[in-house]
Amino acid sequence: MVRASDIRIRELVDEMLYREPSDDRDTVYVTDCVDCPMKSVLKRRNGHRVTREMLYGTVMHDVIVSRIAEKVGGETEVPVSVRVVHEDGQFTLSGRADLVRGDTVYEFKFTEKPVDRRYLLQANAYAVLLGLPRYCIVAVTSRKTYLYCRDVDEEMYGELIENAIKVHKLLNNVKVNFSHGDCRKCEYKNVCPVHRQSRLL
Ligand code: SF4
Repeated sequence: MVRASDIRIRELVDEMLYREPSDDRDTVYVTDCVDCPMKSVLKRRNGHRVTREMLYGTVMHDVIVSRIAEKVGGETEVPVSVRVVHEDGQFTLSGRADLVRGDTVYEFKFTEKPVDRRYLLQANAYAVLLGLPRYCIVAVTSRKTYLYCRDVDEEMYGELIENAIKVHKLLNNVKVNFSHGDCRKCEYKNVCPVHRQSRLL
């Protein structure tokens, strides 16, 4: 039988896995800019529970990435940031590269989807912001580890900056046009004004 004192354990887990809503409109994270921009805005406004993929990634980063750095050298969790100015305001674009070793950024993904353009956008941006010429994605699935490496692509970085500006505008309630994925599969569809609007048309 569950005792009242046991329930505190469950509450603590829920507290640890919950991210409070935030009103920060001055910072856009690189990870905000690789998906539908409205998703990042809704996540921030409403708070959210850490997903299984995020939790798995955090634990695996602590266990694997730091041990790899101990073996081969390099610096983990390297902060990157740049101030972005646009026609409606300015903000700091910020992020953390998993591992920087020599001239390369290594971004680790613990996922069942080894190839995903979002990973390229993210790692490419870290490399550009750190002034490095290349990056590698290390995609770890339950079956196999994939490695793919690319030279930096300024055009792709420009795409990420455009997305970041859209996120910043939406955070400040400026209307923008943006492309998004399949809204029916989105966890925010019930609170998303864009989705609501499209259903009324
Ligand atoms: S419902 Fe569609 S537009 Fe809204 S956040 Fe999700 S993907 Fe983006």
